[in-house]
Amino acid sequence: MPSPLTFSFELFPPRTPEARAKLPAVIAQLAALHPDYFSVTHGAGGSEQEGTYETLLTVVKHSGVETAPHLTCVGSTRANVTAQLVRYREAGVKRIVALRGDLPATALSPAAPGEFHYANELVSFIRKTHGDTFKIEVAAYTEMHPQAASPTEDFEHFRRKVEAGADAALTQLFYNADAYFHFVERCAKAGITIPIVPGIMPITNYANTMRFCNGCGADLPRWIRLRLEELEHDKAALGDFGIGVVTRLCETLLRGGAPGLHFYTINQAEPARRLLGNLGLK
Ligand SMILES: Cc1cc2nc3c(=O)[nH]c(=O)nc-3n(C[C@H](O)[C@H](O)[C@H](O)COP(=O)(O)OP(=O)(O)OC[C@H]3O[C@@H](n4cnc5c(N)ncnc54)[C@H](O)[C@@H]3O)c2cc1C
Repeated sequence: MPSPLTFSFELFPPRTPEARAKLPAVIAQLAALHPDYFSVTHGAGGSEQEGTYETLLTVVKHSGVETAPHLTCVGSTRANVTAQLVRYREAGVKRIVALRGDLPATALSPAAPGEFHYANELVSFIRKTHGDTFKIEVAAYTEMHPQAASPTEDFEHFRRKVEAGADAALTQLFYNADAYFHFVERCAKAGITIPIVPGIMPITNYANTMRFCNGCGADLPRWIRLRLEELEHDKAALGDFGIGVVTRLCETLLRGGAPGLHFYTINQAEPARRLLGNLGLK
């Protein structure tokens, strides 16, 4: 029998008192869609460390849904990572999204201070110090990580994270279903059988969509970009167009065998609610 689909919502720690005040209502609305878990982002280099923990506690208080903190390792020490893992374990966390994180190029050099340089080292460390306490999710890049030398090198680095003990992967955002299917086929040929869950970024705004795609190197098909440009100042029409495009992407992915969907919510409930409604999954 096929495994049930996994749906998750990603939140980020709110940065202003107003955003903090709004978050419980957003969490409650998203929880009503019955996700398997909420994940909470974590700034590299320790920024947002407290914010991740506080947001996690807010999710527990307002929804009771499982939470998965993201944990970035670049520039961090083993002692600091251990302290966070112990705190999460004591809070009942069962799942960690293990990442390298982004810091300035100097911090990424092998000579930089910090006891971790790549996510595979973090995955190994979590397994070594905490055994199977946590389910470990890692990042996957269907269109190649922007700093990778080649798709094959990037794939080999992804494989190292899996061999280090990752249980599943969440992909970077993308708008090209074929890139996802190619990546999954490549995994299958390499004997990688963990679930690769597509990361879905709703399209609700032209400037943000361009910024997100440029930031992570995701290909935004020309016809989508042109239409977003045209609708930039008509929020309702752009929203309808964006939800339509992303609904079709999700339908294609699920029909093609994707094991679930991970929504980058940007702390908004409405786009995810509309998408899940269109997909008949609410
Ligand atoms: C689902 C998801 C959630 C995210 N959440 C956050 C978050 O909360 N906070 C945040 O700061 N960022 C987050 N990011 C962004 C992520 O931190 C960046 O994309 C970062 O640049 C890479 O992280 P990684 O864990 O994929 O790194 P890695 O897997 O370590 O890969 C990073 C780069 O190094 C290369 N590489 C890997 N291992 C080696 C090696 N041993 N030798 C040489 N090169 C190597 C890879 O090919 C790749 O180019 C998230 C990304 C995704 C997809």
